Amino acid sequence: MNYVCVKCGQKFSLASNQWKCDCGGLLHLEYTKKPVDFTATAVARNHSLWKYIDALPFDLEDCWQQVTLGEGDTPLISVGKSLYAKADYYMPTLSFKDRGAVTLIAMAKKLGVNRVVADSSGNAGTAIAAYAARAGIACDVFVPASTSDKKIKQIEAHGAIIHKIPGTREDTAQAAIDMVQETNLFYASHIYNPLFWEGTKTYFYEVFEQCNGSMPDAFIIPVGNGTLLLGAHIAFKELLSWGLIDKLPKILAVQAENCSPISKAFQAGKSTVDAVENTGTLAEGIAIAAPARGAEILAAVRETGGDIIGVTEESIVDARQKMAVQGIYVEITSAANYAGYLSFVKKYPSLQNQFVVFPLCGAGIKSN
Ligand SMILES: *Cc1c(COP(=O)(O)O)cnc(C)c1O
Ligand SMILES: [Zn+2]
Repeated sequence: MNYVCVKCGQKFSLASNQWKCDCGGLLHLEYTKKPVDFTATAVARNHSLWKYIDALPFDLEDCWQQVTLGEGDTPLISVGKSLYAKADYYMPTLSFKDRGAVTLIAMAKKLGVNRVVADSSGNAGTAIAAYAARAGIACDVFVPASTSDKKIKQIEAHGAIIHKIPGTREDTAQAAIDMVQETNLFYASHIYNPLFWEGTKTYFYEVFEQCNGSMPDAFIIPVGNGTLLLGAHIAFKELLSWGLIDKLPKILAVQAENCSPISKAFQAGKSTVDAVENTGTLAEGIAIAAPARGAEILAAVRETGGDIIGVTEESIVDARQKMAVQGIYVEITSAANYAGYLSFVKKYPSLQNQFVVFPLCGAGIKSN
């Protein structure tokens, strides 16, 4: 198993503690995996993402056993004729980030790491802090000073050291990177470390299994840094290479219009993403003005024949209310997903009759 640079192909062992190539290229993960046997996982007694162990970078008897909190295997809820919500807010720390945090921290434990550094606008930091606590690993979390008190309290409760950074989300990332470079600590980054997608890809395995071995026509996926979206791309390519699907489901990605560098680049037909100014959005969890993996995200969406749109602030507030009156209470960022679905239906009316899944990424009590 090794990291490989997407730009120059150089390989690094996991023990090297490399989080980016010397050439500036970003890293992917390479390892041998077995196809998932979905007829077996569908009846497995392990109701967590660890039932997919054959296609994860771990063995059955391995460090994850001491780190897991039972994450995964979340329900698919019908919310319309052919529209389903996957309830990833049923997670140990109430967001889908637990999928990636558990695989990343389990590997850190396996590597003998005793302290990690993370940066996040909230949910990733919470998840990393919780799993690090579980694993007995010390943790420093950098957050923008504007992050909601509730999220900061939870991170502190798990025993992590909080660093509140004034300025933009990018300033927060830079402060974390500065600490990593000074100390050579393990960078538990959901953006740079590809181990994170090994967890998020299981969201799509679960949907495939819940649909009895088929895929929806399209997935609505929120995108800031691409934590869930790049996991989708990996899962789709695996299912295709295992002969379990014959085409990639469409990725219909959603950004907040007030901070939508990827949708702008997509609509302009570009293959790289220019940074934008965040003009202010309630969807703080996806407000990434300069996404490090922008080019990979554009390529992944195009490969599926998908699309990326920006949604307005009003539509986010409205979508949250529309879900709440049906008993579904999500954090404000996560309401962008349903708002995105409604916008995509306006753009592509035939979507109404297609089978579509969108995620409930984070629980309503996380935000005001
Ligand atoms: C992390 C997160 C997302 C997805 O954001 P990425 O930056 O693309 O990983 C969406 N919604 C919520 C609530 C999140 O926490
Ligand atoms: Zn390189």
